[in-house]
Amino acid sequence: MVLNFNLLDGKIAIVTGCNRGIGKVIVELFATNGATVYAVARKPASLDAIASDKIIPCYLDVTDNVGVKDLFLRIKKEHNRLDILVNNAGVMQDALLGMISEEQMYSTFNTNVFANINLLKYASKFMVRQKSGSIINLSSIMGVNGNAGQIVYSSSKGAVIAMTKSAAKELAGSNIRVNAIAPGIIATDMLYSVPDEKLGKLREKVGMGYIGEPIEVAKTAMFLASDLSTYVSGQIIGVDGMMIN
Ligand code: NDP
Repeated sequence: MVLNFNLLDGKIAIVTGCNRGIGKVIVELFATNGATVYAVARKPASLDAIASDKIIPCYLDVTDNVGVKDLFLRIKKEHNRLDILVNNAGVMQDALLGMISEEQMYSTFNTNVFANINLLKYASKFMVRQKSGSIINLSSIMGVNGNAGQIVYSSSKGAVIAMTKSAAKELAGSNIRVNAIAPGIIATDMLYSVPDEKLGKLREKVGMGYIGEPIEVAKTAMFLASDLSTYVSGQIIGVDGMMIN
């Protein structure tokens, strides 16, 4: 089904982590609805299949500040505005408390937290000048409720919630909205890296009884990116099929 409501006509967007999973579906939905999307992925050529006049591949790692700066300079040169930032790129690695490594802690926070703050910082420079913009961060139900074996990941996603609420307060006066989506369990590679037994238990907690699809997250991202949500900021929107804590 093609979901084209022209909700993002003329808007300029950045979406990170979009060669697969939720990010890829967000990019395609945004472009279908009229946005020009700077699609960020770290693997060269991984966006070739979806590149178009509306989907512009940008190959960089979100933890690389030089690459991130160059991206914003490019957008400044090509459009001199930015309407939407989706901080989607994320990593997840499970470990019980005694098995958490220093490398795991730093790499998870570098991607899931520090890179998001950095992108938020650069995006806000455009948006404050324009006095408009929408920033969407991908948190997780695990950042809201916590989860055994996911202390590092859930802490990073909890930080995304605090980051979202703080940035929303700081930027509201400039008419910039900052919201987070907290997905439950969504059918992507990240979910299927979870062992079967654990996944089964998570699935039992979903009131609606099924694993969500990336498009169900993407539709919420489109609502938050569009002018349908002009008075919505600082919110953490669960997209979890009524997941029981
Ligand atoms: P996937 O693992 O399927 O995809 C993650 C994407 O992020 C990949 O494209 C990956 O690129 C990219 N990425 C990771 N690190 C970097 C980096 N340093 N620079 C650039 N890109 C990077 O995950 P999902 O699509 O499932 O998840 C998307 C977001 O939603 C994440 O933030 C995740 O935490 C969140 N989420 C997902 C849930 C789920 O059930 N699926 C539930 C709750 C939250 P590459 O291919 O190069 O690795």
